[in-house]
Amino acid sequence: LQFKDYGLQEDILKALEALSYATPTEVQSKVIPTALTGQDLIVKSQTGSGKTAAFGIPVCQLVDWAENKPQALILTPTRELAAQVQSDITNIGRLKRIKAVALVGKSPFAPQKIELTQKTHVVVGTPGRVFDHIERDTLPLNRLKYLIIDEADEMLNMGFIEQVEAIIKKLPSDRVTLLFSATLPDKVKNLCRKYMNDPVDIEI
Ligand code: AMP
Repeated sequence: LQFKDYGLQEDILKALEALSYATPTEVQSKVIPTALTGQDLIVKSQTGSGKTAAFGIPVCQLVDWAENKPQALILTPTRELAAQVQSDITNIGRLKRIKAVALVGKSPFAPQKIELTQKTHVVVGTPGRVFDHIERDTLPLNRLKYLIIDEADEMLNMGFIEQVEAIIKKLPSDRVTLLFSATLPDKVKNLCRKYMNDPVDIEI
């Protein structure tokens, strides 16, 4: 199947063309159709496989442009990955005018807070700073429908897994959760068991 066979919006298809994404990669062909149906997914895959677009394409398709508050939250273990994901989402969502905001540590809080008062469809961030915004009531969560946990095993290695759990506890339970990880250690599996809804397993 090609991207046009997934029922994607014209704005998304044109953006993929502009990015020269001609054919879905393996992880994309497995993840995109299932994610579009709103099922929870546990995806075991490596970086470099095209996994960012595997969740970025469904996220851009599913968010409603007219809604002003964040609809998708993407958690990454590092600031660099957050910046990369924000850039990829911005590119995939460019013609649909999707606004993705990065919330990462080691940068000033105030500009992030101001950005969040403006229309934001997608928030990409590292757990510590995202939790700060939640605690200070600067990140509205009541419209959140999609949670993506990227590189879950790295979250664990870096000691962020408790913070990820603390964030999940603040989110609406009526949501779709996608978790990506190169490996699935027990603590990651436990997180899936506790907070995901009958997830489909995908292994690349
Ligand atoms: P990732 O695994 O998300 O870091 O992606 C690895 C690289 O593959 C990135 O440079 C992407 O821009 C590129 N990429 C992702 N999907 C496709 C695709 N379907 N066709 C061509 N390149 C892609």
